[in-house]
Amino acid sequence: MAEMIKVLIDGKVCEAPAGTTIIECARLNGIEIPSLCYLKGLNAIGSCRVCLVEVKGARGLAAACVYPIEPPRPDRVTGEMKMMEIRTNTPALQKARKGTLELILSNHDQSCLSCSRSGTCELQSLAAEYGVDATRFGVGGKDVPVETSSLHMIRDNNKCILCRRCVAACKLNQDVGVIAPVGRGINTRITCAFDMELNNGPCVSCGQCITVCPTGALHEKDNTDEVWAALADPTKHVVVGTAPSVRATLGECFGDEIGTNVEGKMVAALRRLGFDGVFDVDTAADVTIMEEGTEFIGRVKAGGPFPMFTSCSPGWVKFCEYYYPDYLENLSTAKSPQGMFGALMKSYYAQKKGIDPKDIVVVSVMPCTAKKFEAKRPELGNDGLADIDISITTRELSRMIKKGNIVWDKLPDEEFDPIFGIASGAAHIFGATGGVMEAALRTVAEILENKQLEKLDFTEVRGTKGIKEATYTVAGIDVKVAVASGLSNARKLIEMIRSGEKFYHFVEIMACPGGCVNGGGQPTQPASVRNNVDLRAKRAAALYNEDAAMGLRKSHENPVVKEIYDTYLGEPGSHKAHELLHTHYVAREKYTK
Ligand code: SF4
Ligand code: SF4
Ligand code: SF4
Repeated sequence: MAEMIKVLIDGKVCEAPAGTTIIECARLNGIEIPSLCYLKGLNAIGSCRVCLVEVKGARGLAAACVYPIEPPRPDRVTGEMKMMEIRTNTPALQKARKGTLELILSNHDQSCLSCSRSGTCELQSLAAEYGVDATRFGVGGKDVPVETSSLHMIRDNNKCILCRRCVAACKLNQDVGVIAPVGRGINTRITCAFDMELNNGPCVSCGQCITVCPTGALHEKDNTDEVWAALADPTKHVVVGTAPSVRATLGECFGDEIGTNVEGKMVAALRRLGFDGVFDVDTAADVTIMEEGTEFIGRVKAGGPFPMFTSCSPGWVKFCEYYYPDYLENLSTAKSPQGMFGALMKSYYAQKKGIDPKDIVVVSVMPCTAKKFEAKRPELGNDGLADIDISITTRELSRMIKKGNIVWDKLPDEEFDPIFGIASGAAHIFGATGGVMEAALRTVAEILENKQLEKLDFTEVRGTKGIKEATYTVAGIDVKVAVASGLSNARKLIEMIRSGEKFYHFVEIMACPGGCVNGGGQPTQPASVRNNVDLRAKRAAALYNEDAAMGLRKSHENPVVKEIYDTYLGEPGSHKAHELLHTHYVAREKYTK
């Protein structure tokens, strides 16, 4: 264990292990030093200079996010041992910070009035705290083109403050590294190699860069106008489905505590927005388990190919298509719950309601920006109709609710429409890393063993660790499973599989660290929150708690799923199920221009 060091911060004795930076030592002792570029565990580069502190003695000003605390030293005059003395908030520091913010804003497009991050922007809130109006150095702006090439996001370098958090998320968390700083000084910008458009490079659409961006420089491509237009069209029957994790995060946009399950209010809000059907994509998640589980059982009986990879996470699927095309046959052919939801709405539901599928508009609310890309995959449709017409993120839904004049706090709890409104606990936990694996194991084990499981909790695959492994004996077979979240972990795992160091039968991969609860379309939280709260664990707890409290915890026992198979699809893995609910993948060129 590292030696503990005591220092004085703002006159308070603070203690932290040797090697800890000043900003972390302060944070651990209840003092929050402002910063724009620092994000715990991801980005500590001392570039924004907002976290400057005074270190008494010869050292002067230091960037707290990179400067380590030091052990007591003998005073040069008296020889007495003196603790390192740090000041975080003197008038001189306040002036320096204000000057830094003024300089940042002098090269910034200050269109706060309509900015997607107004109200959640870390630059805006610091500017307000420090009383910065940016007039001293003029109001300029970079006047560079806004990058709109991809289906999932907008990159506006006019609002970029060069904190490089996005670069770190893309490289360190995702091991994609498709964006980087280019140029020097005031002309520095974050861009792709050779200034290529994002759409022409191997970006996997995960949106992890968006969730860490402190400003409005990065945001999802907003598709809410299309939803409003569909809702206003009397010739359209507009249905909406919400992904498992959205209920665990949407409340954050309305000030609810992180990890609050707001399923009932979310349903009520969607109904007030005017959707003709308000459904749970979790029901489709249960169907996914039936199809994916059946596929896995088939592979067990056929002796492979192993491992079988889950295919629910479109960022992961795209990553596999770019970086591991030789593993495409290992991806489950089952569509994601979003894809299955859309396909069943335009077939089973349309038939049941007697509506022409052409008149149905399917809207999905997803934790994920990559779902926008997935929705537009040509493979995801039937008879020339896309499975999903419009995919919006949790953040976009929150904006629709606000724009729809709906008072969140006054919403009652309502239930999903029954035709696609019952889901098992297994489906709810899809939203957390390990959840799909656990849901599949509950079904696969019961089917293979032909008896009820005594224990439904597969706790070894739970938790936020990047890679988890377990072996379960099912019907006399030692089934080896692994779970990875965050694509850098996925890459590590696949390399171990490729080298023969590891063997698994079944592997769950989620593109976003922690799974969908931390997806690229989820509510943003500032560094002051992210540095102190494990968002992934708190949000996931909401889903596991819901599962634990339920009587229906297995996908194959869901009565709605049983009815869909009994009356429409036949058996899991049937010809009809394959036609509607399975897909294929394509090897992708990394650079197309
Ligand atoms: S990024 Fe922040 S400071 Fe800049 S326009 Fe948007 S809200 Fe305002
Ligand atoms: S969406 Fe994902 S892959 Fe694309 S630039 Fe952002 S972090 Fe990188
Ligand atoms: S795009 Fe956002 S996260 Fe990336 S460097 Fe600019 S401000 Fe920082």
